[in-house]
Amino acid sequence: MPPSHSHATTDPSAVGREAWRLVERLYPIPRSITGDGVRTTLAIVGEHVPVQVHEVPTGTPVLDWTVPMEWNVREAWITDGAGRRVVDLADHALHLMVHSAPFRGRLSLDELRPHLYSLPEQPDLIPYRTSYYQERWGFCLRHRDLEALKDGEYEVCVDTSLEDGHLTYGEVVVQGEESAEVLVSAHVCHPQLANDNQSSVALATLLARELAARGTRLTYRFVLVPGTIGAITWLARNEDCAERVRHGLVLAGTGDAGHLSYKRSRRGDATIDRAVEHVLARSGAPYDIEDFWPWGYDERQYCSPGFDLPVGCLMRTPHGRYPEYHTSGDDMDLVRPEALADTYAKLLDIVAVLEGNGRYVNLSPKGEPQLGRRGLYGAIGGREQELALLWVLNASDGSASLLDVATRSGMPFPAIRAAADALLEHDLLAPVSGA
Ligand code: ZN
Repeated sequence: MPPSHSHATTDPSAVGREAWRLVERLYPIPRSITGDGVRTTLAIVGEHVPVQVHEVPTGTPVLDWTVPMEWNVREAWITDGAGRRVVDLADHALHLMVHSAPFRGRLSLDELRPHLYSLPEQPDLIPYRTSYYQERWGFCLRHRDLEALKDGEYEVCVDTSLEDGHLTYGEVVVQGEESAEVLVSAHVCHPQLANDNQSSVALATLLARELAARGTRLTYRFVLVPGTIGAITWLARNEDCAERVRHGLVLAGTGDAGHLSYKRSRRGDATIDRAVEHVLARSGAPYDIEDFWPWGYDERQYCSPGFDLPVGCLMRTPHGRYPEYHTSGDDMDLVRPEALADTYAKLLDIVAVLEGNGRYVNLSPKGEPQLGRRGLYGAIGGREQELALLWVLNASDGSASLLDVATRSGMPFPAIRAAADALLEHDLLAPVSGA
């Protein structure tokens, strides 16, 4: 029998507030796909849960890619002729184009302009720009600040390094009774964007802590990686993962006030797809479900055909569909404690389905067994629970899972699970091995 979930240690609203404070701490750190920003992020995660930090050397072949050079930044700024800092990384981590190559020099405004990025349509927001695979430098600034720059000479300092080093990623493993794994992946690479994706780093951290405290049937592997190259690196080092990973979720943008959205795995009908849909459909709140498409977050890598892992993507407002996306507007006001709490509560509900799912066979299948004689009628909670008992008995021919029963009956999974537990206790049900 799966472990009891009766001793949940944390209430979601308290976790929502704690996650918000964790996002607040993580988000201003300058980060890229490699370098100390990711290490600092994982060190903060490590204050909450034991995290295994992996360092993969520059130049390591990973599937069709190669681990890039390590990028670090000390300072980056522009001063005008009067010595006034007009842009400074110290004010906001988005000011420097991520992965900028080192540069020092004096430029006229016309020479400087091709290195400056702004959003004319959103003049008060700083854009998020990267240049991972092309060696150049740039600064991102509010369009109104760009407009205010006067002709003259500017001094530019981009004190960065691009050198042989490592790609860093983290894993938090919650060992369960079984070796079958649930993969939970979040990208950690973005600097000073709160919803995308420190919201998910924080929720993954606190979920891992909760599951470790509870004890689980399945093993949970939380993978905190730089986007794309990190997931590809993880897959290259875990090519046998398809044997272990039974279910998986990419978490992305999980803290804004929009409703929950789920993008199905490439398979489309994996247990994780059905578990998430069941939880969202019964939540009473609006939600969106979309089919897999090969864009978005690291589900693209996990669902590449050579792996085809059952991994979907849980989000709130999907990327690109909120105006603050990839700008300085993705800040601590966009991320809400109550939204983090709601995502966290749904994650616990999804985990409950994955933990409690299984296939059973009715040991008294000819006619209904006499439940009253066994004290099962009225004993565990009213009419709904009696109906759940009848559903589990009737559906348990060894082929249907409890999730199938919950879906078919329209009843909440916990009620179906509780009915199965009661029937197991009275020897009216037996697990189908390997289910
Ligand atoms: Zn992003």
